[in-house]
Amino acid sequence: MALIVSLLSKPCSLPFSPLQRVTTTTTRARPFSSKVLNSGFNQAQRKQTPLHSSFVTQLRREVSALANNGVSVVAKEADQEGKTQGRIWFPDVVVQNRREVFWKRNWNVLDVTSAGIILSMHLLALCAPFYFTWHAFWVAAGLGLISGLGITLGYHRNLCHKSFKLPKWLEYLFAYCGLQALQGSPIAWVSTHRCNHQLSDSERDPRNPILGFWFSHINWMFDTEAIIEKRGEASNVEDLERQPFYRFLQATYLLHPIACGVVLYSLGGFPFLVWGMGARITILYHITFLVNSASHIWGNQAWNTGDLSKNNWWVALLSLGEGWHNNHHAFEYSARHGLEWWQLDLTWYVIRFLKVIGLATELKLPSQAHMQRMAFNN
Ligand SMILES: [Zn+2]
Ligand SMILES: [Zn+2]
Repeated sequence: MALIVSLLSKPCSLPFSPLQRVTTTTTRARPFSSKVLNSGFNQAQRKQTPLHSSFVTQLRREVSALANNGVSVVAKEADQEGKTQGRIWFPDVVVQNRREVFWKRNWNVLDVTSAGIILSMHLLALCAPFYFTWHAFWVAAGLGLISGLGITLGYHRNLCHKSFKLPKWLEYLFAYCGLQALQGSPIAWVSTHRCNHQLSDSERDPRNPILGFWFSHINWMFDTEAIIEKRGEASNVEDLERQPFYRFLQATYLLHPIACGVVLYSLGGFPFLVWGMGARITILYHITFLVNSASHIWGNQAWNTGDLSKNNWWVALLSLGEGWHNNHHAFEYSARHGLEWWQLDLTWYVIRFLKVIGLATELKLPSQAHMQRMAFNN
Protein backbone atom coordinates (compact mmCIF):
# COMPACT_ATOMS: atom_id res chain seq x y z
CA MET A 1 0.00 0.00 0.00
CA ALA A 2 2.78 2.40 0.97
CA LEU A 3 4.34 1.71 -2.38
CA ILE A 4 1.28 2.84 -4.22
CA VAL A 5 0.94 5.91 -1.98
CA SER A 6 4.50 6.98 -2.70
CA LEU A 7 4.04 6.21 -6.36
CA LEU A 8 0.96 8.40 -6.62
CA SER A 9 2.53 11.29 -4.78
CA LYS A 10 5.86 11.10 -6.59
CA PRO A 11 5.59 9.98 -10.20
CA CYS A 12 8.97 8.98 -11.57
CA SER A 13 10.28 10.76 -14.61
CA LEU A 14 12.37 8.80 -17.04
CA PRO A 15 14.85 10.18 -19.53
CA PHE A 16 14.58 9.25 -23.19
CA SER A 17 16.40 6.23 -24.53
CA PRO A 18 19.76 5.77 -22.80
CA LEU A 19 20.79 3.82 -25.86
CA GLN A 20 21.42 7.15 -27.56
CA ARG A 21 23.80 8.20 -24.76
CA VAL A 22 26.97 7.11 -26.52
CA THR A 23 29.54 9.04 -28.49
CA THR A 24 28.66 9.21 -32.17
CA THR A 25 30.71 9.82 -35.29
CA THR A 26 29.31 10.20 -38.78
CA THR A 27 30.85 8.13 -41.53
CA ARG A 28 30.01 7.38 -45.15
CA ALA A 29 27.71 4.48 -45.77
CA ARG A 30 29.51 1.14 -45.82
CA PRO A 31 28.66 -2.39 -44.79
CA PHE A 32 29.60 -3.20 -41.17
CA SER A 33 32.22 -5.74 -40.28
CA SER A 34 31.39 -8.45 -37.77
CA LYS A 35 34.02 -6.94 -35.45
CA VAL A 36 32.13 -3.66 -35.26
CA LEU A 37 28.73 -5.31 -34.94
CA ASN A 38 29.90 -7.48 -32.09
CA SER A 39 31.77 -4.73 -30.27
CA GLY A 40 28.84 -3.86 -28.01
CA PHE A 41 28.19 -7.39 -26.83
CA ASN A 42 29.18 -8.00 -23.24
CA GLN A 43 30.68 -11.17 -21.88
CA ALA A 44 27.29 -12.85 -21.81
CA GLN A 45 26.36 -11.94 -25.36
CA ARG A 46 29.71 -13.08 -26.71
CA LYS A 47 28.64 -16.57 -25.75
CA GLN A 48 26.27 -16.21 -28.67
CA THR A 49 23.18 -18.31 -28.76
CA PRO A 50 21.72 -19.12 -32.22
CA LEU A 51 19.15 -16.37 -31.64
CA HIS A 52 21.82 -13.74 -31.06
CA SER A 53 23.78 -14.74 -34.13
CA SER A 54 20.62 -14.58 -36.23
CA PHE A 55 20.05 -11.13 -34.73
CA VAL A 56 23.52 -9.97 -35.83
CA THR A 57 23.04 -11.43 -39.33
CA GLN A 58 19.70 -9.67 -39.72
CA LEU A 59 21.11 -6.40 -38.38
CA ARG A 60 24.08 -6.56 -40.75
CA ARG A 61 21.74 -7.20 -43.69
CA GLU A 62 19.57 -4.25 -42.72
CA VAL A 63 22.50 -1.85 -42.38
CA SER A 64 23.93 -2.96 -45.72
CA ALA A 65 20.57 -2.54 -47.48
CA LEU A 66 20.24 0.99 -46.11
CA ALA A 67 23.82 1.80 -47.01
CA ASN A 68 23.32 0.47 -50.56
CA ASN A 69 20.30 2.74 -50.91
CA GLY A 70 22.55 5.71 -50.33
CA VAL A 71 21.42 6.34 -46.74
CA SER A 72 24.15 7.97 -44.68
CA VAL A 73 25.04 5.67 -41.81
CA VAL A 74 25.85 6.98 -38.35
CA ALA A 75 28.26 4.76 -36.47
CA LYS A 76 28.43 4.61 -32.71
CA GLU A 77 31.32 3.69 -30.50
CA ALA A 78 30.67 2.26 -27.08
CA ASP A 79 32.24 4.60 -24.53
CA GLN A 80 35.53 3.60 -23.00
CA GLU A 81 34.30 3.49 -19.41
CA GLY A 82 32.10 0.53 -20.11
CA LYS A 83 28.87 2.40 -19.41
CA THR A 84 27.24 0.68 -22.35
CA GLN A 85 28.22 -2.79 -21.10
CA GLY A 86 25.33 -5.16 -21.44
CA ARG A 87 23.74 -3.34 -24.36
CA ILE A 88 23.96 -4.54 -27.89
CA TRP A 89 25.44 -1.92 -30.14
CA PHE A 90 22.87 -0.69 -32.65
CA PRO A 91 23.36 1.83 -35.49
CA ASP A 92 21.23 4.99 -35.32
CA VAL A 93 20.25 4.62 -38.93
CA VAL A 94 18.50 1.31 -38.28
CA VAL A 95 16.72 2.68 -35.20
CA GLN A 96 15.49 5.71 -37.15
CA ASN A 97 14.43 3.61 -40.13
CA ARG A 98 12.48 1.16 -37.95
CA ARG A 99 10.80 3.97 -36.03
CA GLU A 100 9.64 5.58 -39.30
CA VAL A 101 8.31 2.28 -40.62
CA PHE A 102 6.56 1.65 -37.30
CA TRP A 103 4.58 4.91 -37.23
CA LYS A 104 3.76 5.02 -40.96
CA ARG A 105 2.47 1.46 -41.36
CA ASN A 106 -1.22 0.53 -41.70
CA TRP A 107 -2.78 0.10 -38.27
CA ASN A 108 -5.18 -2.86 -38.12
CA VAL A 109 -8.28 -3.20 -35.89
CA LEU A 110 -6.35 -4.92 -33.08
CA ASP A 111 -3.68 -2.21 -33.05
CA VAL A 112 -6.30 0.53 -32.86
CA THR A 113 -8.28 -1.33 -30.16
CA SER A 114 -5.28 -1.89 -27.87
CA ALA A 115 -4.08 1.70 -28.38
CA GLY A 116 -7.66 2.93 -27.73
CA ILE A 117 -7.97 0.99 -24.44
CA ILE A 118 -4.59 2.17 -23.15
CA LEU A 119 -5.23 5.76 -24.27
CA SER A 120 -8.69 5.90 -22.67
CA MET A 121 -7.27 4.71 -19.33
CA HIS A 122 -4.62 7.45 -19.54
CA LEU A 123 -7.28 10.08 -20.29
CA LEU A 124 -9.33 8.91 -17.29
CA ALA A 125 -6.18 9.03 -15.15
CA LEU A 126 -5.60 12.64 -16.20
CA CYS A 127 -8.92 13.57 -14.53
CA ALA A 128 -7.77 12.05 -11.22
CA PRO A 129 -6.39 15.24 -9.58
CA PHE A 130 -9.71 17.03 -10.22
CA TYR A 131 -11.81 14.29 -8.61
CA PHE A 132 -9.62 13.49 -5.62
CA THR A 133 -11.31 12.16 -2.49
CA TRP A 134 -9.61 10.04 0.18
CA HIS A 135 -12.29 7.37 -0.30
CA ALA A 136 -11.56 7.12 -4.02
CA PHE A 137 -7.82 7.12 -3.34
CA TRP A 138 -7.95 4.20 -0.90
CA VAL A 139 -10.28 2.22 -3.17
CA ALA A 140 -7.72 2.66 -5.99
CA ALA A 141 -4.81 1.74 -3.70
CA GLY A 142 -6.55 -1.40 -2.38
CA LEU A 143 -7.69 -2.54 -5.81
CA GLY A 144 -4.23 -1.70 -7.20
CA LEU A 145 -2.52 -3.98 -4.70
CA ILE A 146 -5.01 -6.81 -5.33
CA SER A 147 -4.85 -6.62 -9.13
CA GLY A 148 -1.06 -6.05 -8.98
CA LEU A 149 -0.64 -9.30 -7.02
CA GLY A 150 -3.04 -10.90 -9.50
CA ILE A 151 -0.45 -10.14 -12.19
CA THR A 152 2.79 -10.89 -10.30
CA LEU A 153 1.69 -13.83 -8.16
CA GLY A 154 -1.20 -15.14 -10.27
CA TYR A 155 -0.47 -14.53 -13.97
CA HIS A 156 3.33 -14.48 -13.76
CA ARG A 157 4.78 -16.77 -11.11
CA ASN A 158 1.85 -19.19 -10.82
CA LEU A 159 0.42 -19.49 -14.35
CA CYS A 160 3.38 -18.65 -16.62
CA HIS A 161 6.17 -20.33 -14.71
CA LYS A 162 4.38 -22.81 -12.41
CA SER A 163 6.71 -21.77 -9.58
CA PHE A 164 4.34 -23.18 -6.94
CA LYS A 165 0.93 -24.80 -6.64
CA LEU A 166 -2.29 -23.35 -5.25
CA PRO A 167 -5.69 -24.96 -4.70
CA LYS A 168 -7.73 -24.42 -7.89
CA TRP A 169 -10.15 -21.96 -6.29
CA LEU A 170 -7.27 -19.73 -5.17
CA GLU A 171 -5.43 -20.03 -8.50
CA TYR A 172 -8.60 -18.91 -10.28
CA LEU A 173 -9.15 -16.09 -7.78
CA PHE A 174 -5.65 -14.65 -8.32
CA ALA A 175 -6.08 -15.01 -12.11
CA TYR A 176 -9.37 -13.11 -11.90
CA CYS A 177 -7.70 -10.34 -9.89
CA GLY A 178 -4.95 -10.18 -12.55
CA LEU A 179 -7.57 -9.80 -15.28
CA GLN A 180 -8.80 -6.64 -13.53
CA ALA A 181 -5.46 -4.99 -14.36
CA LEU A 182 -6.70 -4.84 -17.99
CA GLN A 183 -3.49 -6.34 -19.37
CA GLY A 184 -5.15 -9.19 -21.27
CA SER A 185 -6.83 -12.48 -20.41
CA PRO A 186 -4.70 -15.11 -18.63
CA ILE A 187 -4.33 -17.11 -21.88
CA ALA A 188 -3.15 -14.08 -23.87
CA TRP A 189 -0.83 -12.73 -21.14
CA VAL A 190 0.78 -16.09 -20.38
CA SER A 191 1.30 -16.87 -24.08
CA THR A 192 2.98 -13.50 -24.70
CA HIS A 193 5.14 -13.82 -21.61
CA ARG A 194 6.39 -17.32 -22.40
CA CYS A 195 7.38 -16.11 -25.88
CA ASN A 196 9.20 -13.16 -24.36
CA HIS A 197 11.41 -15.45 -22.30
CA GLN A 198 12.12 -17.65 -25.28
CA LEU A 199 13.05 -14.81 -27.65
CA SER A 200 14.40 -12.29 -25.15
CA ASP A 201 16.47 -9.50 -26.76
CA SER A 202 16.87 -11.42 -30.00
CA GLU A 203 15.89 -10.14 -33.43
CA ARG A 204 12.59 -11.99 -33.02
CA ASP A 205 11.78 -10.25 -29.73
CA PRO A 206 8.91 -7.86 -30.64
CA ARG A 207 9.80 -5.50 -27.76
CA ASN A 208 13.52 -5.47 -28.28
CA PRO A 209 14.99 -2.80 -25.95
CA ILE A 210 17.65 -2.06 -28.56
CA LEU A 211 15.05 0.05 -30.35
CA GLY A 212 14.89 2.43 -27.42
CA PHE A 213 13.13 2.86 -24.11
CA TRP A 214 9.71 3.90 -25.42
CA PHE A 215 9.61 1.13 -28.01
CA SER A 216 10.20 -1.63 -25.46
CA HIS A 217 8.03 0.16 -22.89
CA ILE A 218 4.79 0.60 -24.82
CA ASN A 219 4.96 1.14 -28.60
CA TRP A 220 5.71 -2.46 -29.54
CA MET A 221 2.21 -3.50 -28.38
CA PHE A 222 0.53 -1.50 -31.14
CA ASP A 223 1.97 -3.59 -33.98
CA THR A 224 0.12 -6.88 -33.61
CA GLU A 225 1.05 -8.07 -37.10
CA ALA A 226 4.77 -7.79 -36.35
CA ILE A 227 4.27 -9.56 -33.02
CA ILE A 228 2.59 -12.54 -34.71
CA GLU A 229 5.14 -12.53 -37.53
CA LYS A 230 8.08 -12.59 -35.11
CA ARG A 231 6.66 -15.08 -32.65
CA GLY A 232 4.87 -17.42 -35.01
CA GLU A 233 1.47 -18.99 -34.41
CA ALA A 234 2.56 -21.99 -32.32
CA SER A 235 0.48 -22.45 -29.21
CA ASN A 236 2.45 -22.40 -25.97
CA VAL A 237 -0.43 -22.16 -23.55
CA GLU A 238 -2.33 -25.43 -23.97
CA ASP A 239 -2.25 -26.06 -20.22
CA LEU A 240 -4.60 -23.07 -19.74
CA GLU A 241 -6.60 -23.58 -22.93
CA ARG A 242 -7.64 -27.00 -21.64
CA GLN A 243 -9.42 -25.41 -18.67
CA PRO A 244 -12.97 -24.08 -19.24
CA PHE A 245 -12.44 -21.28 -16.69
CA TYR A 246 -9.61 -19.71 -18.70
CA ARG A 247 -11.45 -20.21 -22.00
CA PHE A 248 -14.41 -18.40 -20.44
CA LEU A 249 -12.21 -15.48 -19.32
CA GLN A 250 -10.69 -15.36 -22.80
CA ALA A 251 -14.12 -15.19 -24.46
CA THR A 252 -15.54 -12.59 -22.08
CA TYR A 253 -12.35 -10.70 -21.24
CA LEU A 254 -13.45 -7.07 -21.57
CA LEU A 255 -16.80 -7.59 -19.82
CA HIS A 256 -15.11 -8.09 -16.43
CA PRO A 257 -13.22 -4.77 -16.18
CA ILE A 258 -16.32 -3.03 -17.61
CA ALA A 259 -18.42 -4.64 -14.82
CA CYS A 260 -15.83 -3.47 -12.28
CA GLY A 261 -16.11 0.07 -13.65
CA VAL A 262 -19.92 -0.03 -13.45
CA VAL A 263 -19.82 -1.23 -9.81
CA LEU A 264 -17.28 1.47 -8.88
CA TYR A 265 -19.36 4.18 -10.56
CA SER A 266 -22.55 3.06 -8.82
CA LEU A 267 -20.77 3.01 -5.43
CA GLY A 268 -18.87 6.27 -5.59
CA GLY A 269 -19.66 8.12 -8.81
CA PHE A 270 -17.03 9.65 -11.08
CA PRO A 271 -14.24 9.91 -8.43
CA PHE A 272 -14.38 6.12 -7.87
CA LEU A 273 -14.34 5.50 -11.64
CA VAL A 274 -11.47 7.88 -12.30
CA TRP A 275 -9.32 6.61 -9.42
CA GLY A 276 -10.43 2.95 -9.25
CA MET A 277 -10.11 2.37 -13.01
CA GLY A 278 -8.16 5.19 -14.74
CA ALA A 279 -5.42 5.98 -12.21
CA ARG A 280 -5.06 2.42 -10.89
CA ILE A 281 -4.87 0.73 -14.29
CA THR A 282 -2.57 3.36 -15.82
CA ILE A 283 -0.10 3.08 -12.93
CA LEU A 284 -0.18 -0.73 -13.12
CA TYR A 285 0.41 -0.53 -16.89
CA HIS A 286 3.55 1.50 -16.48
CA ILE A 287 4.88 -0.62 -13.63
CA THR A 288 4.48 -3.77 -15.74
CA PHE A 289 5.95 -2.00 -18.79
CA LEU A 290 8.99 -0.90 -16.75
CA VAL A 291 9.88 -4.55 -16.18
CA ASN A 292 10.03 -4.96 -19.99
CA SER A 293 11.87 -1.71 -20.66
CA ALA A 294 13.88 -0.40 -17.67
CA SER A 295 14.85 -3.87 -16.41
CA HIS A 296 16.41 -4.63 -19.80
CA ILE A 297 18.26 -1.30 -19.90
CA TRP A 298 19.34 -0.14 -16.40
CA GLY A 299 20.71 -2.18 -13.50
CA ASN A 300 23.20 -4.97 -12.84
CA GLN A 301 23.62 -8.47 -14.15
CA ALA A 302 24.30 -10.98 -11.40
CA TRP A 303 23.99 -14.02 -13.68
CA ASN A 304 25.31 -15.00 -17.08
CA THR A 305 21.95 -15.13 -18.85
CA GLY A 306 23.15 -14.18 -22.35
CA ASP A 307 20.50 -11.47 -22.68
CA LEU A 308 20.07 -7.86 -21.51
CA SER A 309 17.96 -8.55 -18.39
CA LYS A 310 19.01 -6.52 -15.32
CA ASN A 311 18.39 -6.47 -11.58
CA ASN A 312 16.85 -3.05 -11.00
CA TRP A 313 16.04 -2.12 -7.38
CA TRP A 314 13.60 0.70 -8.05
CA VAL A 315 11.59 -1.33 -10.56
CA ALA A 316 11.56 -4.15 -7.98
CA LEU A 317 10.14 -1.75 -5.36
CA LEU A 318 7.35 -0.59 -7.66
CA SER A 319 6.54 -4.00 -9.14
CA LEU A 320 6.28 -6.06 -5.94
CA GLY A 321 9.61 -7.81 -6.62
CA GLU A 322 9.51 -8.30 -10.39
CA GLY A 323 12.41 -5.88 -11.00
CA TRP A 324 15.00 -8.51 -9.92
CA HIS A 325 14.75 -9.39 -13.55
CA ASN A 326 18.22 -10.80 -14.22
CA ASN A 327 17.59 -13.24 -11.35
CA HIS A 328 14.28 -14.10 -13.01
CA HIS A 329 15.78 -14.67 -16.47
CA ALA A 330 18.44 -16.88 -14.87
CA PHE A 331 15.96 -18.98 -12.86
CA GLU A 332 12.59 -18.58 -14.58
CA TYR A 333 10.97 -21.31 -12.49
CA SER A 334 11.88 -19.73 -9.14
CA ALA A 335 9.00 -18.53 -6.94
CA ARG A 336 11.46 -16.12 -5.34
CA HIS A 337 12.92 -13.32 -7.50
CA GLY A 338 14.75 -11.31 -4.82
CA LEU A 339 17.38 -13.96 -4.09
CA GLU A 340 19.46 -11.92 -1.60
CA TRP A 341 18.02 -11.02 1.80
CA TRP A 342 18.15 -7.33 0.90
CA GLN A 343 16.38 -7.76 -2.44
CA LEU A 344 12.85 -6.78 -1.46
CA ASP A 345 10.30 -9.08 -3.10
CA LEU A 346 6.79 -8.52 -1.80
CA THR A 347 5.24 -11.16 -4.06
CA TRP A 348 7.61 -13.75 -2.57
CA TYR A 349 6.62 -12.75 0.99
CA VAL A 350 2.95 -13.34 0.09
CA ILE A 351 3.81 -16.74 -1.43
CA ARG A 352 5.75 -17.61 1.76
CA PHE A 353 2.75 -16.60 3.84
CA LEU A 354 0.47 -18.79 1.70
CA LYS A 355 2.91 -21.66 2.27
CA VAL A 356 2.90 -21.14 6.04
CA ILE A 357 -0.90 -21.35 6.16
CA GLY A 358 -0.81 -24.45 3.95
CA LEU A 359 -2.22 -22.96 0.72
CA ALA A 360 0.91 -22.74 -1.46
CA THR A 361 2.80 -25.99 -2.05
CA GLU A 362 5.68 -27.34 -4.17
CA LEU A 363 7.58 -24.02 -4.17
CA LYS A 364 10.46 -24.03 -6.67
CA LEU A 365 13.79 -22.32 -5.85
CA PRO A 366 17.16 -22.25 -7.68
CA SER A 367 19.41 -25.18 -6.83
CA GLN A 368 23.08 -24.66 -5.84
CA ALA A 369 24.21 -26.51 -8.96
CA HIS A 370 22.13 -24.28 -11.24
CA MET A 371 23.40 -21.14 -9.48
CA GLN A 372 26.96 -22.30 -10.04
CA ARG A 373 26.30 -22.92 -13.73
CA MET A 374 24.81 -19.43 -14.17
CA ALA A 375 27.59 -17.59 -12.29
CA PHE A 376 29.84 -15.26 -14.33
CA ASN A 377 33.05 -16.71 -12.89
CA ASN A 378 32.00 -20.20 -13.84
ZN1 LIG B 1 12.67 -9.87 -19.58
ZN1 LIG C 1 8.70 -14.51 -16.48
